[in-house]
Amino acid sequence: MGKIIKTTCASCGHEWVNKIGCGLMHGSLGNIAGLFSEEESERIREYMTRNAYPLFDFAYRLAYCDHCESLVSVPVLELKDESGRYVGSCKQCSRKIEIEDIIEEADETSCPVCGRASLHTEDTGLWD
Ligand SMILES: [Zn+2]
Ligand SMILES: [Zn+2]
Repeated sequence: MGKIIKTTCASCGHEWVNKIGCGLMHGSLGNIAGLFSEEESERIREYMTRNAYPLFDFAYRLAYCDHCESLVSVPVLELKDESGRYVGSCKQCSRKIEIEDIIEEADETSCPVCGRASLHTEDTGLWD
C-alpha cells in the first residue's frame, strides 16, 4: 500500500501532493515494465524471461523536476542481481528524471520554488 504525502514550503507557501510507495498491481514486474519508456520496458521484459523469480524493488518516489520546478512522484525500479536501476519520467512534463533528482529526505531538501530548506512533509492518506 502506498502513501499520499503533502509537502509544504513554510517560506513561500507552495504545496505539492504526491503518491509514493507502491500499489497492489506493482507486485508484478510485467505491470511495472509498462510504466517506463519503450526501450526500458523492453529491457525489463527481457530480464523477466531470463529470471523465473525476479528480485526487484519498486516504488513511486518523491523527486525534483528542474523543468517544472516542482516536486513530483516518479516510478523507480531496482533489479537486484543486475544492479539495474530505472527511473521514470515526470508526469507533468514527461522529461526524464535522473537518479540524483530522487529526494531521500524532503525535510532536508531545498524548496524548488524559493530555494529555502523549509519543506515539511505530512502523510495525508493511503492509496491502493
Ligand atoms: Zn516536470
Ligand atoms: Zn518555498
